[in-house]
Amino acid sequence: MSEQHHEAHKHHEGHGTKYKYGMVIDLDKCTGCGACMVACMAENNISFRKDNSDKLLSNYWMRVYKISNGLPFPDTEICYIPRPCMHCEGHGHHHHTPCVSVCPAVATDYDQETGIVSQIYTRCFGCRYCMAACPYHVRVFNWWDPKWPEGMEKYLSPDVSVRMRGVVEKCSFCNHRLQRARNKAYAEERREIHEDEYQTACTQACPAGAITFGDLQNPEHEVHKLKDSPGAFRLLEKLGTNPKVYYVSSRAWVLKAADVYIGEEGKGVTHP
Ligand code: SF4
Ligand code: SF4
Repeated sequence: MSEQHHEAHKHHEGHGTKYKYGMVIDLDKCTGCGACMVACMAENNISFRKDNSDKLLSNYWMRVYKISNGLPFPDTEICYIPRPCMHCEGHGHHHHTPCVSVCPAVATDYDQETGIVSQIYTRCFGCRYCMAACPYHVRVFNWWDPKWPEGMEKYLSPDVSVRMRGVVEKCSFCNHRLQRARNKAYAEERREIHEDEYQTACTQACPAGAITFGDLQNPEHEVHKLKDSPGAFRLLEKLGTNPKVYYVSSRAWVLKAADVYIGEEGKGVTHP
C-alpha cells in the first residue's frame, strides 16, 4: 500500500491508527473442525492439561462455540462461532477498550499504530480486572505454571514467551508474526508489508477459508470489503466496544442469536 493512501485514511477513519488489523469470519463456511484452535495453541505456546475438555482447567485464545436454532429434527441447524480477542477499539479519543481501561498495571494496551490490544505478561500481577471487564470472555488466567508432555517443549516457538502462573493471557493477533514481517520488509528496504506477509495462524490453518485477516482500513486488503458484506455484524455491538472482529452469516437465526435483531425471524434461538 502507498504512503499516500495511509496519509489520506489516517485522519478520516478510526482514531488516527495507521493500520487497523482485524478479521472477518464467515460463519456459513465454518464447519467447527477446531483447526484454528489447535493452530493457535501450537503457534502461541499454549499449554494443555491432561483433560482439556475441563473448561476450568483448559486455556484457549481461540475458542469455537456452538449454537443451535433450537428447532427439533429435521429443522435443527447448528452454527459454529470461532472467537478470538476482538481487539476492541472503543470509541472517542481515549478509546475505552474495556480491558485496557481497567488494568492498573498498563499490562494491556491499545497499540496506536496497529490497533492491536497487547498483553505484557511480566507487567501483569494477576488482579484479573481485565477478565471481569471483557464482555467476550477471551481472557484466561494461568492458575498453574505451564506443562507439556516430556520432549514437547522442544517444539515451542522461540518467538512467543511462555507464560507463568499468576498472569492473564489472550489472543495477540499473532503479533510476533507482524514483527517478523516487518523485519523482513526492513531488510528488503521496504516500509510497508503486504497482506499475505502478515496472517494469523488460525487464518492459515482454517481448511474452509472461513477466517480472513488484514488491515480493515486498507482498500487493497480483502477484509476491507468483506466487513461491509450483507449479513456482516459484530458481537455485542450495542455495548460500544467497537470490536475489530466481524462475522458474516446469511442465516437470520444466527444474526438474532448474535443480538442483531431483525424482527420475528429468529424466534426459538437457544444458546446451549
Ligand atoms: S475482546 Fe476483551 S480482551 Fe479483547 S480487546 Fe475486547 S475487552 Fe479486551
Ligand atoms: S490481571 Fe494483569 S492485565 Fe489484567 S488488569 Fe490485572 S494486571 Fe492488568
